[in-house]
Amino acid sequence: MSTTGARKTEVVVVGAGPYGLAAAAHLTRAGIDFRIFGIPMGAWRHHMPKGMFLKSALTATSISAPAPSMSLIDYCTANGVTGVDDHNPIPIDLFVNYGLEFKNRYVQNVEQDVVKQVADMGNGFQVSLANGETFLTKNVVVASGHMHFSYIPEALRIPAGQDGASLVSHTGAHPEFSNFAGRSVAIVGAGQSALESAALLREAGAEVHLIVRGPQLAWGKPPTGEHSGLLLRALKPMTPLGPGWSHLVITRAPELISHLPPAARLRLVRLTYGPSGAWWLRPRVEGSIETLLGTEVEEAREANGRILLRLRHESGKSSSLAADHVLAATGYRVDVNAIDYLSPTIRTRLARVPGSGSPALSGSCQSSVPGLYFVGLSSAATFGPLLRFVHGTDFAAQTVCRSLVSAATRRSDFRQAA
Ligand SMILES: Cc1cc2nc3c(=O)[nH]c(=O)nc-3n(C[C@H](O)[C@H](O)[C@H](O)COP(=O)(O)OP(=O)(O)OC[C@H]3O[C@@H](n4cnc5c(N)ncnc54)[C@H](O)[C@@H]3O)c2cc1C
Repeated sequence: MSTTGARKTEVVVVGAGPYGLAAAAHLTRAGIDFRIFGIPMGAWRHHMPKGMFLKSALTATSISAPAPSMSLIDYCTANGVTGVDDHNPIPIDLFVNYGLEFKNRYVQNVEQDVVKQVADMGNGFQVSLANGETFLTKNVVVASGHMHFSYIPEALRIPAGQDGASLVSHTGAHPEFSNFAGRSVAIVGAGQSALESAALLREAGAEVHLIVRGPQLAWGKPPTGEHSGLLLRALKPMTPLGPGWSHLVITRAPELISHLPPAARLRLVRLTYGPSGAWWLRPRVEGSIETLLGTEVEEAREANGRILLRLRHESGKSSSLAADHVLAATGYRVDVNAIDYLSPTIRTRLARVPGSGSPALSGSCQSSVPGLYFVGLSSAATFGPLLRFVHGTDFAAQTVCRSLVSAATRRSDFRQAA
């Protein structure tokens, strides 16, 4: 495919979720020439279940805008949305509509195409789209979220083409659960996604078995709000992601976290906000969902059109469970090799954070391939758990935008001097 005559751009943003939209909004404001690709809020519209509520609080769920008045709270006020506050969770539809309104206000140029390949050209990149267009760009911002990284543990995997392969799926494959009414579903996992899927499936009329490796389920506590006493406020400062000094560092100083040794950063990402359910979900799960605690799946195989799980319990005993379907609510593991639109050469050249598949990034979110930036979940191994959440869009968008503005300025200074 020839790129002769094709318009060159300064920046390409891959993905139009919260991180891509925030980066694009800041680039627009900075006057940088860019193109952005993806279905606006696509992961939220097509890969998360209808009826879901967000786990993050109202104050932690704004997409970073280059000007005030487009926070989620502003959106609710402007649209007369009531009944949502830090004590009442955010319905997914509200967040999607907010994201689409954000796009309409700040990023009107989203192109709903899939980026098929990004190839390194030495001094920039060649981008190929699913519609056949190919063009050149100086920089690429990878804002393609979590969907490349769905993780299903070995014991649950049935290779494609083998009997039963379609009987096991990841939670990310289900925008709704009504098709499971009257069927039995085993859910493996203990995080918000497992627990909320369990509640939604039961409410949709499925028979649900929840399989949890740990000895008990963990639940969050309702927000207590800011302490009124000065001393308590100093000892336990409140942040949008939770109370305490550790949360303050995580939310306010991600660049500081990037200086920790890699193993410490990975541990922080793994253990902070570990698997637990939101406090408001608890009454919809406890007492109404059969929960097998201290139980691990050893094997999954097809038997007479159903899926048969061999289970091992904490006591050392084994048992089996037959279900119509198994839902792996087993999360996401970042591995740049899974980002299929990055060319094999780029994937080989990318330096990793030792002990992980995450790209090693500079303080400006830039990878070891010059001009290739990562934001969102892929950057959490460098900047900590903040980057797993919408709340991290402010740091990411501002950081990437600053770096791209200074790269563009350097190039134009150079051209003027030449
Ligand atoms: C079930 C679930 C619940 C969550 N709840 C919360 C919550 O309550 N609060 C919170 O802060 N975070 C939550 N998260 C994390 C959440 O995903 C992120 O905070 C947020 O969506 C990250 O935004 P993003 O733009 O990085 O990724 P995404 O929202 O995933 O957007 C990336 C987009 O890129 C698109 N894309 C991928 N590849 C290409 C390509 N080749 N070409 C074009 N487009 C492409 C995808 O289709 C997708 O639409 C949740 C995650 C899950 C899975």
